Amino acid sequence: MNAGTDWSATEPCARALDAADALAHFRDAFSIPRGADGAELTYLCGHSLGLAPRNARARVLEELEDWERLGVRGHEHARRDWISYAERLQAPLAVLAGAAPQEVVAMNSLSVNLHLLLVSFYRPTAARHRILIEAGAFPSDRHVVTSQLRWHGYDPAVALIELAPRAGEETLRAEEIEQTIAAQAGKLALVLWPGVQYRTGQSFELAHIAHAAQRAGARIGFDLAHSIGNVPLSLHDGNADFAAWCSYKYLNGGPGAIGGAFVHERHARDLSLPRLSGWWAHEAATRFRMGPELTLTPGAAGWQISNPPVLSSAPLIAALEQFSGAGMAALRAKSLQLTAYLECCLMQLCGQEITLLTGSDPQQRGCQLSIRVRGNSERARSVHAALDANGVVTDWREPDTIRLAPVPLYNRYADALRAAQLLAQALRI
Ligand SMILES: *Cc1c(COP(=O)(O)O)cnc(C)c1O
Repeated sequence: MNAGTDWSATEPCARALDAADALAHFRDAFSIPRGADGAELTYLCGHSLGLAPRNARARVLEELEDWERLGVRGHEHARRDWISYAERLQAPLAVLAGAAPQEVVAMNSLSVNLHLLLVSFYRPTAARHRILIEAGAFPSDRHVVTSQLRWHGYDPAVALIELAPRAGEETLRAEEIEQTIAAQAGKLALVLWPGVQYRTGQSFELAHIAHAAQRAGARIGFDLAHSIGNVPLSLHDGNADFAAWCSYKYLNGGPGAIGGAFVHERHARDLSLPRLSGWWAHEAATRFRMGPELTLTPGAAGWQISNPPVLSSAPLIAALEQFSGAGMAALRAKSLQLTAYLECCLMQLCGQEITLLTGSDPQQRGCQLSIRVRGNSERARSVHAALDANGVVTDWREPDTIRLAPVPLYNRYADALRAAQLLAQALRI
């Protein structure tokens, strides 16, 4: 079957695509939630909370057992010793981030990590203190930057630049981002940009944005909440200063899972960067001498403060085993096709009644498609509720947007078809 041209929103087509899917068996590695009738839900909500890898339970239980069995001795003698627990996550996270292991660290949660990195990388001066973000940013990101601005004594109403799409457009044009950055040269201290925008699903060329920011003399940081595990990343080659992410969306690390951060190698040993530190920033070899001086661990690990939360890291270890098994390149290849098939089904079955906020260019999106239901907000809300009642889990954003994410690790082509069929039914087409 030729991608796109021979596709149809029919069971035989979805079945043929699933039969040809070399990654199909990864679905068996996840627990698929079921509805009240006992049937598996059509789960298209991996952009909010990824599904539980089946081996997560064993990984968590092993830590509980080791705690029960060993008490404090578990720090050194647990099956996976707790002292170096965060280090275990470095190598697999580095692969997904497109970084060297020393450039990444698992710690805290996303918004906290953004704050810690802004302490180091947002160094405003009277002349240069502006921050650029996208208009309609995830509220937490906006709260992070406005509170940082105020903390430094600046008024967000003046110092925060928020770039919106052109009137009548849903997504941002690359040239407009670059022009805005260039126009702020000399005044811009920091660009904080999403890898994939959470509401529209638009994916950005991070290396281009990093280049534009650096040409303007600004630091560049990325929020990868909707990117890591969704699209391939190359943070090191793309020259980002820093990045942060959460692990409960596409990484499937579980609710409130330990977050992550990237700091480019060129900052690995820069002691001139101010930081908020704790004992876990101290180099591992001498940390337990408990001396008064801080000998910073080079690299991203030097931004840690506390010892790692083992119980919220164990499921992430399990989840990253699935990524290592499948490989990000293969996942992206499936994702491109699966998302295109969802688009095809939506357009064939519901095209008159919805508009796609996410563009059709596969290079400018991950797996998420955001759709707007024609008519008023009330209609859109009842359509979303009908999907939910019929076992199709999507997510709702005020006032009229439904976000659907077919995730290549555990979704099938049949899920894309079923979602579109039930959407058509809810729209009563
Ligand atoms: C999910 C998400 C968050 C959540 O932040 P936490 O600190 O993990 O609660 C923040 N920003 C963006 C862009 C997100 O998508």
